[in-house]
This record gives sequence, structure tokens and C-alpha cells, in this order.
Amino acid sequence: MNSLAATEVELARLENERQKVLAKQLRIIRGSFIKCAKCGENSKLFSWTFIQDMFYVEPYSCTGGDYWLNSETRCCHIVCPKCEGEIYLYNDPQRDKIVNLIKANPFGKDKLFHEVKKRQKD
Ligand SMILES: [Zn+2]
Repeated sequence: MNSLAATEVELARLENERQKVLAKQLRIIRGSFIKCAKCGENSKLFSWTFIQDMFYVEPYSCTGGDYWLNSETRCCHIVCPKCEGEIYLYNDPQRDKIVNLIKANPFGKDKLFHEVKKRQKD
């Protein structure tokens, strides 16, 4: 095997390792317990529903606006799988923990939560 081919093999091995570590990271994040501020029960992050709140940008000038943008994570809501209570993340004592778990992953919210719902409100 020439040295170029050897580097290709090495890169493939590293990519395989990387995928294993990412899968482990995903399991850890999904399995993190979140305590419900309404019923007091703990549930794994993966069993919660995330509500991606959106805000409306009114039309401005000739070409701008008239669309919806995602609100920041800390300004969204989550729904407890046990009591179905809806919690505003901004006011939740675990806000920073939840925001950091979401931020720490390269997978996107769809992979972390039981379900992601978009909600438009103005
Ligand atoms: Zn609850």
C-alpha cells in the first residue's frame, strides 16, 4: 500500500470512530433527565416535546419582511411527557442546562426530542 492509500484508510478509520463517538454523545444527551417544573417528575430529554416558537417579521421596504423566523431556544417551550404541562424555557430553573444540551449537539432538535412542533405567534 502506498502512503496516500494508507492515509485514506486511516481517515476512514477515524471517521468510523467519529461516528461512534457522535452516537454515544447523542445517547447521553437524549438520556439526560429534565425535571418538570409543573409536576416535579423527571423524564429523559428524548421523551419531551419541543415547541419551536416563531415570530413574524412584518413587511418593510419593497422586498424585506413578511416571513417567520425561529425564536431563540431559550424563548421556546417544552411539553412534559408525564403531565403534558407546557413550560416556557425562559422561566424554567433548568433553562441553561437544556439550552446547553441542545447547543452541545450537532444533531438538531429533531433528533433530541420526541417531537418538534413549530408554532407561529405574533
Ligand atoms: Zn410534568
